[in-house]
Formats: sequence, structure tokens, C-alpha cells
Amino acid sequence: MESLTLKVKQRVQELRQLLQQASYAYYVLDSPIIEDAVYDRLYRELQQLETEHPEVVTPDSPTQRVGEKPATQFTTVRHNIPLYSLENAFDVDELQAWERRWRRQTPNIDAVEYVCELKIDGNALALTYENGVLVRGTTRGDGVTGEDITQNVRTIRSIPLRLNMSGLENVERVEVRGETFLPLEVFKQINSQRLAAGEQLFANPRNATAGTLRQLDSRIVAQRQLDFFAYTLHIPGLDDASIANTQWEALELLQNIGFRVNPNKHLCATYAEVAEYYQHWDTERLNLDYMTDGVVVKLNSFKLQEQLGFTQKFPRWAVALKYAAEEAPTRVENIAVNVGRTGALTPLAEMRPVQLAGTTVSRATLHNSDRIAQLDIRIGDTVIVRKAGEIIPEVLRVLKELRPDDTKPFVMPTHCPVCNQPVVREMGEAVTRCVNASCAAILKGAIEHWVSRDALDIRGMGEKLVHQLVDKGVVHSVADLYDLTEDKFCELERMGKKSAEKLVSAIACSKNQPWSRVLYGLGIRHVGSVNAQLLTEKFPSVEKLAQARQSDIEGIYGIGAEIAQSAYQWFHIAANQTLIERLQAAGLQFVGEVTLTSDNQKLVGKTFVITGTLPTLKRDEAKALIQKNGGKVTESVSKKTDYLVVGEDAGSKLEKAESLGITQLSEAQLLELVGE
Ligand SMILES: [Zn+2]
Repeated sequence: MESLTLKVKQRVQELRQLLQQASYAYYVLDSPIIEDAVYDRLYRELQQLETEHPEVVTPDSPTQRVGEKPATQFTTVRHNIPLYSLENAFDVDELQAWERRWRRQTPNIDAVEYVCELKIDGNALALTYENGVLVRGTTRGDGVTGEDITQNVRTIRSIPLRLNMSGLENVERVEVRGETFLPLEVFKQINSQRLAAGEQLFANPRNATAGTLRQLDSRIVAQRQLDFFAYTLHIPGLDDASIANTQWEALELLQNIGFRVNPNKHLCATYAEVAEYYQHWDTERLNLDYMTDGVVVKLNSFKLQEQLGFTQKFPRWAVALKYAAEEAPTRVENIAVNVGRTGALTPLAEMRPVQLAGTTVSRATLHNSDRIAQLDIRIGDTVIVRKAGEIIPEVLRVLKELRPDDTKPFVMPTHCPVCNQPVVREMGEAVTRCVNASCAAILKGAIEHWVSRDALDIRGMGEKLVHQLVDKGVVHSVADLYDLTEDKFCELERMGKKSAEKLVSAIACSKNQPWSRVLYGLGIRHVGSVNAQLLTEKFPSVEKLAQARQSDIEGIYGIGAEIAQSAYQWFHIAANQTLIERLQAAGLQFVGEVTLTSDNQKLVGKTFVITGTLPTLKRDEAKALIQKNGGKVTESVSKKTDYLVVGEDAGSKLEKAESLGITQLSEAQLLELVGE
């Protein structure tokens, strides 16, 4: 027994060391030493051993990055060493003024070295390591106190949980400061998920980072892929012991003990080199995959830094040289509404062209009517627009003091600007949509959905062909597909007789697809393939479904109010009724019983409520998943609710569920529950 435990301990040690080395190579050095699959296998072995022997789990184990149970609130803690802010300089003249000031104070100093580092537009973190192990991570806060967010900090892959302390064996405490940030790619993903879910967008990566860091559920933070660059190292007696005498050496040491240090740093021998670095990165930084807003210039020598000391607010030996903001005022000349492929109506500000970040900007997205209401933007307003990196231009704020007298608030049209059918904005959603299946703007999307594999499964009907058919005016609705002949196809570009034959036959075959697939193919919002099966089970013909009251539809087990409303509305649009008549005439199946064949009914009898944004699943997908497994999804939390599936930015539903003592599930736990 004794020896078994010893063996386990040895293997656990070995695995941790391997995984730590691999992580360091991957996240810090950007040069992987083992394949992902190998890493996963080792990781799972460690996880397995730790599950079987919980006594060997330590907080610095690589398995402890995945996040813990949600904290109820963060505690405020005092920083061991305060985090000073830096004095700002906005151009080279102001940089010169800084140079003159510190030189006046130390007249005997002649040549000095400067360290230039890019100023990352993220959130500063203070990290404390004791005996090489991460014990605390805090936000900057007011510089004297910050919030303890250790659980969240642990999930950031480029922050080591254990330091490589070779050469520093006697050091008890290490303090590290750096910047955590969201790579632009990840930021864009998060915002597009939020847009799809009808949630408010993050204004910029910095806000998204701050929002993520303050998540109480670190499991969500773990999904967000925050990154980190270290830039300050405090070790008591750092320079006395000749461990590092300069900022440059400290940066090297940071990298050696396990941190990611921004590779674009530069050691400048002259003041002229500093100015050159600043000018070089003014344009070059637009190619980086993270946001920067300036350059931090520090005097390299720690001895000189000590000599100069601090003012009441800032260190005298450093300055933040900012880049001109990529913001500019301009006037809104019109607010147009664009109809996208999903039928979403997106308001766009059309503005007097303005130069921003090297490009001319004349349009900016206003996202949705909530965002417009929030900004209170009107035609004729002068606004501040912002464009940074590759992010689409957006309106930051309205200069209301410059507003002309006769402006009116913007009102979202009640009818689609393309097809003139009434538009729909569902309860709890920010997006307004055109739901007319024949609308020209959404026709392409509708046809692509109709021919897709889970719907009518018409092979050979790719995106390019669909676009060609619509653009040439050959097809005006999915029903027109059934009038297409070989000759019509042959008239299209690059279409041979063989292909035309195949397509006509594939289209004809789709007439045999069952009623449930036809219903799904109609692309009614919220009616996914599982819901389509549930609906056709209860309504074995299209007439029965079209005549159903909303309450009849909602009464079906597994169908929520959202789906019922959407289906009901769809069948009451005249154009949609015409479409069905034409498809019926073409020979499509609108009658037929379906029996659910799912053998996976793990959630039968359980009621779920979903709240907030889930890390990977969209709301509809999570819902469909629960329903597929026999569970029921409702809109509001009550005593009858069995589980609350919680995502990011959960609101009042979470509070209510907590007060009722309802079990909460993360997305990962939900997936586990259904065995996916
Ligand atoms: Zn329309």
C-alpha cells in the first residue's frame, strides 16, 4: 500500500513536470515540444491519478487550471507593492519634456539606456508567488488595493502556476506585474456570439477583458483564452544580489522563470532610438493580433531608477508615450437599415467620410435598436467614431451639445425595407427580423438551408449555384427550384448537360423527403430539426399546424413559447401561405406521421432553464440538445425547474434559482449529463 502511493506520487510528479514543460514551450516560447494528442493523453493520465488519489492534488497541478465553482464575490486585498500608474506623453515634444525633467534632477548622468515596450491595451494584474507557487492574482484596482481574482488568473495559460526557480532557490516571494488581454481574434468571436444571442456587445477588447476577469465563474474565464505579457519583476534584494541590475535583465529573467514577455521590446542606447521605436510601431502595431495604445519607456538602470524615485503619483524614471487615438468626430447623414441573410435588420450609420487609422470611414454599424436607444443617435448628430486594428468602425458616443434642433429619434421600421412585409422582434431579443421566406435579401440563405443535408438534402446545389440562380433572377423562392429544367441549368455559366441532369434528378428526389424535413427546411426561426420532428408528431399535416392556435403549439412537450410564437407567426404571413401552396402543388410531403426514434432519453421528466451566454453552444443549440434527450426547456425559473444552465452575464434568473436552491449547471456539466 505504502509503495503504491509512493509510485503514484512519483508518476504524478513526473506528469506535472512534463506537462509544465510542454505548456511553457507552447504558450510562452511558441514552439511546441510535443503533439497536442500526446499532451492530452498525459493530461488525462494525470487527471485519472488525481481522481483516484485526491490526496495528491496540489494547487499548482496543471489540472487545476480548468476553473472552480463560482465565487459569490471577490474580496478586496491590499497590494504587497503598490501599482503606480505612469505619466502620459502624447507626442515626441512631451517625451522630450520628460527627458529634460529627469536629466535636470541628475545633472551628472550622461549616457543612459532606455527600454521600450509596447503598451498593451488590456488590464494590469499583480501576481504573487511564494516558494515558486502562484498564491494570489489581483486586479490593479486603485493601485493600492485590488480584487483577489486568483481563481480566474489560474485559467490563463501563459501565467505559470509554478515558476522555474533554478538560481533563485532561496527566494521566498516573487511579485510579477503584467498585462492580461484578449487577442483580437478571440474578441471578435466573443462579440459575434453575443450578437447572435442578441446580447450587448463589448465596446473593445479591454472592456471584454475586464468583463471576463470579473466573472464569478472561473469555468467561463477558462473558455475565454485570455493571454498575458509580464513586464515587471519584484524580488526583495533583486539588484543587491546581482540577480538583475536593469529592466532589460529583469525581462530576460521573467522569461526564464516561465513568463511570456512581449518580444517587441527594444533596448535603446540613445534618446533618438526611442523616438524611432515610437514612430516605427505607430503603424506597425496595426499588424499585431492584440491592441496597443502606446509605448512604455523606462530608464534601464535600477540604480538610476532608485535615485530618481517617485512623484506623488508616478515614477520619474518611466513614461507612457501614447499614440494618437483612432477616434474622430464626424456627422451622421443618414441611418440606413440593411437586411442580412438571416433576415436580421441591421441599422447602419452613414457618415461624412473621415480618416481613421489610415482608412476612410463612412459607415459604422449600430448593431440593433437597443444600441441605438442606448446611444440616442439621430440623423444630423455629430458623433465620435472609432476604428482600431481590424475592428469594424463603431460609434462610441454622441456629442449631444452639437445636436441640431429638429432631430427625431430613430425608429426601427415596422416593415422590411426590401420586401415590405411586417418585421418581427421577439421578446427578449435585441434583433429585429424579416420573417418572409420570399424576401429577396434572405432568399439565398433560405435556399441554402432548404437544400442542406438535414433538410431536403439536395446534393450538388452549392452556395455558388444558389447565388447564381438568385442573382440571375431564375429563382425567386424555394418553390421555383421545382420548375427548373435541364435547359435552364445549361444556360448558367459552366454547367454541363451531365451536371444539369443530376441536379434535376436530385431536386425531384427531394419530393420524397418526409414532412418533418420539409418543415425544418422552411427555415422557421427556432424550429430546428428536433423541434420540427416534435411538431410534425403532433401535427401530422401542414393544415393542422397552420390552423393551430399558439397555445396548442406551446402545449407540446419540449416546445417553448419562443418556438410556438415563431411558428404561429410564420404561418400567418400571406407570402408563406402561398409558398406552401406552391410546394404542395410541386409534390412535396406535407403529411405524415413521425415517431421519435431517439434512444437517448436521459433527461426525461426534467425541466431546464437556460440563462446567459454559454461558451460554445448557442441558446437554440443548448435547447435542442436538452430536448433531443427528452428534457423540457422553459423560459422562467420556478419551483418546478430542475436545472438552471448558467452562462456568462446571467441575470435575475440566476438570483431566483439561487433563492430556490435549484441546481446550476455549466455548459460542460450539461454536456456531461447527456454524455456528449
Ligand atoms: Zn424582407
